[in-house]
Amino acid sequence: IIQLYVPLNWFGTYYRAIQKNFVDMENMFDLLKETQEVVDIPGAGPLAVRQGKIEFCNVSFSYLPERTVLKNISFTVPGGKTVAIVGPSGSGKTTIMRLLFRFYDVDNGAILIDGQNIKTVQQNSLRQNIGVVPQDTVLFNNSIRYNIQYARLNAAEADVIAAAKSAEIHDRILTFPEKYDTQVGERGLKLSGGEKQRVAIARTILKSPAIVLLDEATSALDTQTERNIQAALHKVCADRTTVIVAHRLSTIIHADEIIVLKEGEIVERGRHEELITQESVYADMWQQQLKNDNEALKESNSEENS
Ligand code: ATP
Repeated sequence: IIQLYVPLNWFGTYYRAIQKNFVDMENMFDLLKETQEVVDIPGAGPLAVRQGKIEFCNVSFSYLPERTVLKNISFTVPGGKTVAIVGPSGSGKTTIMRLLFRFYDVDNGAILIDGQNIKTVQQNSLRQNIGVVPQDTVLFNNSIRYNIQYARLNAAEADVIAAAKSAEIHDRILTFPEKYDTQVGERGLKLSGGEKQRVAIARTILKSPAIVLLDEATSALDTQTERNIQAALHKVCADRTTVIVAHRLSTIIHADEIIVLKEGEIVERGRHEELITQESVYADMWQQQLKNDNEALKESNSEENS
C-alpha cells in the first residue's frame, strides 16, 4: 500500500514534508516553482555578499493571522560566526530558517544580509549564497555522484571527491557496489540518516556558500556516526556564517551566541558557559541532556553486558 501511495502523491507528500520539516528547500524550489509565495520586486538586483553578516531586526511573523509565531526577534550573526537557536518544539526555530531563505516574507521588521534587505534582492541570488543542511535529506533516484554534484552540476570529478572527503562520506562511498556510480534513493541503495546528512554536507561544501543553515537531526545517532557528522559539520561551517537549529546541545558549546526561543520570543541569549552558570531555561535543558545521555550510556552498557 505504501509503495502505491508514494508515487501517486509524490508532489503532495514532498510539499508537505517541506512545509513541515524544512526538507531540502533548495531542491524544492527547482521542482515546484509554482508553490513560491514570494516574488522579486521589479528591478531587484542580485545580493552582493561581502562578509555574509546576517541581521534580524525586530522580525515578527505569523503563518495565520490569528497566531503570531515570531515576536520581535532581533539578533546579528557577524560574517563567519555561528549562532545557534534552541528551544522547545514549536517555539519557532525552523521558521527563522525559512524566513532567512525567504520562503515567506516577514510581517514586520527586516532581515538584512550585509546590509541589504532580503526582500529587495533577487531570490535566486539569495539562495545561491545560502547552503542548507536539512534534518532529513531527500535523495534523487540517481547515482551518489549526481546527488553530491547536484549543488554544482558542472563541478569537476576531483571537486566532488574532495567535497565527499571533507564530509567524511568518501570512504563509505568506496564500499558501495559501484562506488560513485551506485544508484541511491528510493529505488537504489538506501542510506542511513547519518549518511544522508553527510551527502547534504558534501553538497553544501561543493556549493561553497557564504552562509550555511543547519537543521540538526533530532534522531539519536551512534557514537561513531555522531563523530563523523561533527567533523563534517565543523568543516562545512568553518569560515562561513552559520545558523544552527540545535537539538543536541553538545553541538553548540562553541557557538558565538546561543539564542533560546520560547513561544516565538527570545527568552535568553549568550554563550554556553555563561548560560549554564545562570538559573536559566538553557541550564535546565543542559542538565536534562546530561541526564538523558547518562541513561542512554547505562542502557547501552547493560545491553553489551547482557
Ligand atoms: P520543532 O523543534 O518541533 O521543529 P520549531 O521550533 O522549529 O519546532 P516551527 O516549525 O518554527 O517550530 O513552528 C512554530 C509554530 O508555527 C508552531 O506552532 C507550528 O505549529 C507553526 N507552523 C509551522 N509551520 C506552519 C505552517 N506552514 N502553517 C501554519 N503554522 C505553522
